[in-house]
Amino acid sequence: MSARILRGNVIRDQIREELAEELQHLHGAGIRPGLAVILVGSNPASEIYTRNKVKSCETLGIHSERLILPEKTTTEDLLSRVEELNGRDEIDGILVQLPLPSQVDSKRVLLAVSPDKDVDGFHPVNMGNLLTQRPGLVPCTPAGILEILKRSAIPIEGQRAVVIGRSDIVGKPVALLLMHHNATVTICHSRTRDLPEVCREADILVAALGKPGMVNGNFVKPGATVIDVGISPLTDRAEVVRFFPGDAKRMEEFERKGSTLLGDVDPVSVLPLAGAITPVPGGVGPLTIAMLMVNTVRAARLRRELHAASGSAQPTVPVAS
Ligand code: NDP
Repeated sequence: MSARILRGNVIRDQIREELAEELQHLHGAGIRPGLAVILVGSNPASEIYTRNKVKSCETLGIHSERLILPEKTTTEDLLSRVEELNGRDEIDGILVQLPLPSQVDSKRVLLAVSPDKDVDGFHPVNMGNLLTQRPGLVPCTPAGILEILKRSAIPIEGQRAVVIGRSDIVGKPVALLLMHHNATVTICHSRTRDLPEVCREADILVAALGKPGMVNGNFVKPGATVIDVGISPLTDRAEVVRFFPGDAKRMEEFERKGSTLLGDVDPVSVLPLAGAITPVPGGVGPLTIAMLMVNTVRAARLRRELHAASGSAQPTVPVAS
């Protein structure tokens, strides 16, 4: 028996189709959601990520702007850029691409983004909204993981879920979302004792630790759903052979690019055991940008509904799922 593969690309395409329809309605009502992406310096990975985000907006008909600032940008420069974007009505979402250069106070910058334009969902106000199940913007990768589970008809309610990783970006928010969907959740981290034993209790195991291939068959209960969030490039041929034995496509990719991607899960020992698993690449990754688009449209709606309802403390939009 081999695990059912939960293809993120297919789910991403479904979400984009739904979003395209929603955008048509919004355009008809004279609303064109807008996203501003700020990139500081010339980190090659960040350049690719921001370009892909802008491209994704263009395809869907979301207005987008990419602001590229020099490596030496100061915290004050960046704060004034964010302030300007906060005040512009045609911008619904502001994304500051991380990591920022070391001279910049990243926490101050992220705090300056208006919570209703915080499409990354990293602002403490949105974190608080998520914690207390209020309407708001949910971090993209965790929201994408929930979409994968729901759209693949994986039961969540009453299930045991174990999340490895407690970052603000992935581990904590995904644990909260699973709990809000009535799973019984355990969060693990680098100090967790008997990690494999804890993980073997999981019906749903989320691996978000950034340690390529560490989660092996010893961590997985037979039939469990395994969500592999990690993405790491493998550059050592012996490692590629070890993790992808007999996989001609992987070897060909490795020869061509000098690397291939591996998640936190060891496919060799986990694929025969798990009931379902997200592949790397093509699992969680594609959902992250899709959910950024969803958040931009949601931000456009939330802001307008809040404005329209000014005076009313209760916005009419549903709680972000
Ligand atoms: P962080 O480095 O911020 O957090 C890693 C977490 O894993 C920490 O809580 C850490 O514990 C825990 N951890 C590290 N080593 C171990 C270990 N040996 N045993 C148990 N727990 C451990 O990473 P992120 O949350 O930002 O990202 C995690 C992974 O997901 C990375 O590979 C990243 O590239 C990937 N990622 C993928 C995305 C996608 O779109 N697919 C989006 C975002 C991230 P402690 O707190 O004790 O240090």
